[in-house]
Amino acid sequence: MVQSAVLGFPRMGALRDLKKATEAYWSEKISQDDLLAEGKRLRAAHWKIQKDAGVDIIPSNDFSFYDQVLDHIQLFSATPERYSSQGLNPLDEYFALARGHQKGSVDVPSMEMVKWFDSNYHYTKPSFQNDQTFALAQDPKPVREYLEAKAAGFQTRPVLLGPVSFLALGKTERGATVDPISLLSKLVPVYVELLKALKAAGAESVQIDEPVLVFDLRPEVKAAFKPAYEAIGALGSAAPEVVVATYFGDIVHNIDVVPAFSSLHGVHVDLVRNPEQLDTVAKSLGPKQVLSLGVVDGRNIWKNDFQKSLKVIDAAISTLGKERVIIATSSSLLHVPHTLASEKKLPEEVYQWFSFAVEKASEVAILAKATTEGPASVLSQLDANAAALKSRSESKRTNDPKVKDRQSKITPDQFNRKSVFETRYAQQKTHLSLPLFPTTTIGSFPQTQEIRVQRNKFTKGEITEEQYDEFIRKEIDLCIQIQDELGLDVYVHGEPERNDMVQYFGERLEGYVFTTHAWVQSYGSRCVRPPIIVGDISRPAPMTVKESKYAASVSKKPMKGMLTGPVTCLRWSFPRDDVHQSVQAQQLALALRDEVIDLEKNVDEPALREGLPLRSGKEREAYLDWAVNSFKLATAGVEDSTQVHSHFCYSEFQDFFHAIAALDADVLSIENSRSDAKLLKVFIDEAYPRHIGPGVYDIHTSRIPPQEEIKQRISEMLQYLKPEQLWINPDCGLKTRTWAQVKPALTNLVEAAKFYREQHKA
Ligand code: GLN
Ligand code: ZN
Repeated sequence: MVQSAVLGFPRMGALRDLKKATEAYWSEKISQDDLLAEGKRLRAAHWKIQKDAGVDIIPSNDFSFYDQVLDHIQLFSATPERYSSQGLNPLDEYFALARGHQKGSVDVPSMEMVKWFDSNYHYTKPSFQNDQTFALAQDPKPVREYLEAKAAGFQTRPVLLGPVSFLALGKTERGATVDPISLLSKLVPVYVELLKALKAAGAESVQIDEPVLVFDLRPEVKAAFKPAYEAIGALGSAAPEVVVATYFGDIVHNIDVVPAFSSLHGVHVDLVRNPEQLDTVAKSLGPKQVLSLGVVDGRNIWKNDFQKSLKVIDAAISTLGKERVIIATSSSLLHVPHTLASEKKLPEEVYQWFSFAVEKASEVAILAKATTEGPASVLSQLDANAAALKSRSESKRTNDPKVKDRQSKITPDQFNRKSVFETRYAQQKTHLSLPLFPTTTIGSFPQTQEIRVQRNKFTKGEITEEQYDEFIRKEIDLCIQIQDELGLDVYVHGEPERNDMVQYFGERLEGYVFTTHAWVQSYGSRCVRPPIIVGDISRPAPMTVKESKYAASVSKKPMKGMLTGPVTCLRWSFPRDDVHQSVQAQQLALALRDEVIDLEKNVDEPALREGLPLRSGKEREAYLDWAVNSFKLATAGVEDSTQVHSHFCYSEFQDFFHAIAALDADVLSIENSRSDAKLLKVFIDEAYPRHIGPGVYDIHTSRIPPQEEIKQRISEMLQYLKPEQLWINPDCGLKTRTWAQVKPALTNLVEAAKFYREQHKA
């Protein structure tokens, strides 16, 4: 019998139940016991869904209260001492690592959080000391959750992050020098102990994720697989069967690592992203090893193409035989929404094109049944699937001749500003009359309960458009008044009218559709509801002009117009999988270009890096080429005196610095408050001429940065940046914060800027 497997299931629940519970716990509305009980309820519900769908291999330990990498930090007792010395109970310590803790005498910032591969999920970066030790936590989570499932009647396959990935995805603590991968020999014994404990608890198999195998690896990291997996393989029947899982790329360039897994049960590969790796990987396996075929997309919402998947499965079987394949999701389903069944408002036509986590669980089960019992056993499902795919390829939505015509007429001069930066800046300086160390924010101000209430009323038709517009104008007035009081230099209107920075635009563009419940976890309790690009994109009317114009008319300081860039609109949506992403980015760029010209200003492109292929080389260059071009096409149409700001939500920009430079934005703001100012050295090394605002205030947590801390950050930055280049701003938009947090934090920020302005007075 061919088995079906799910690599991980979304944790939030159908109605973002987990978000609600954790946030209630953080605000002390429910007890720790209540929160734990809710976690337990959700785990059981998700196991049941998968079992009912007919999935054979159901994951456990894929649940997390915040992030699975963070779970492993605690599981291996790798919590940095600055947290473990605070006397917090384990769950509160866990949340302190995740989001900082500022209560009573305890004041610790959160650990660094970064993107999980090229997804919009974020993980907490493990951080290691020179004398780092590891030990298995008491009552280890994977064992506890395995037993919980077992008691509830589910045999599960626990998911662990593998030792090489855990170390390679980590970093060195500030001030320490240790290379994380050198800690391998200390860490492996903990896995050995854990695997034995899982076996003793009754686990028959485990999934060990080693996603770093899709990267180009340093020799030290590559060499770590052999000792790690030989030690695990040597356990034989003292450990559960191990399947090593890779995803989000191919492992062909690391194929010489695969023999290190030869005494394990098998390997999982992502055949949605890289179907061509099947042959090479199949041939590198030992004679009895199993290949888990990731054929159902864990990263996108399109209905599986059963005919196509069955061909891939057949090809694998012809090499390996039926007993040596598993039919699986390409990755964890963490990156797709919970269930399509919640969507009541999708156009009938497109509804049938989609499949979310619950439906994908059925898809792997159907494919496994078709393989085991033959297509006749699932004929009606196969027919319905083929009909849905046909309706999509023949739909009008996927082919708009007007959009194609405009794309064919793009000229090279549309990609460049009229003049070089020096000329532009001279005009901007007089036009905007900015001080040294100008202060600004990234766009949004707190999205208060009141804003959500009014938006809801408007969506439900309980208030008129006029009433809603009036409310939004009052909110804008408030934001401007507060910026006056704070003494900021370049204003924003605060984005009260925007539910989300991509959805807002998607709703105003042709080619998108929206869901009502399709949330996916971004970090911790934060979820996003990506719009779906279903067809060719165009802008029927201006999208942001009304609010921006109003804001500028009532403000005495320069006001930034605020747009989401083409690459971000693409990356934070579920893109089409039937045309290349560069085509979709260009359609978005043209729509935004019209908006920028209607508006003249600021473009956020926080997701540029996310699209970056995981390996360097040709593919990465090609991506950067179209991504940068789409940004330039969107922004280059403005006058010299218009200052184009661009914002990036990440600090790891060294590896594609030339692309950031090529955007030719007048001012860049980047996330930086959690990372070392040393990263900024690249701006000197590359003689970057334009302006930069590395974030000095971590907006991802409720912690208020003291003025001294901000001053310290600025002084570090001044080691790498020229005073006349430096802008002072937060890491990102402030929509997730409260006014009570934002006001004192920005007061500190403005004071710190003033301090340096004083110091640098000629
Ligand atoms: N302008 C957006 C905001 O401030 C930018 C958010 C982002 O970069 N993620 O909310
Ligand atoms: Zn940001």
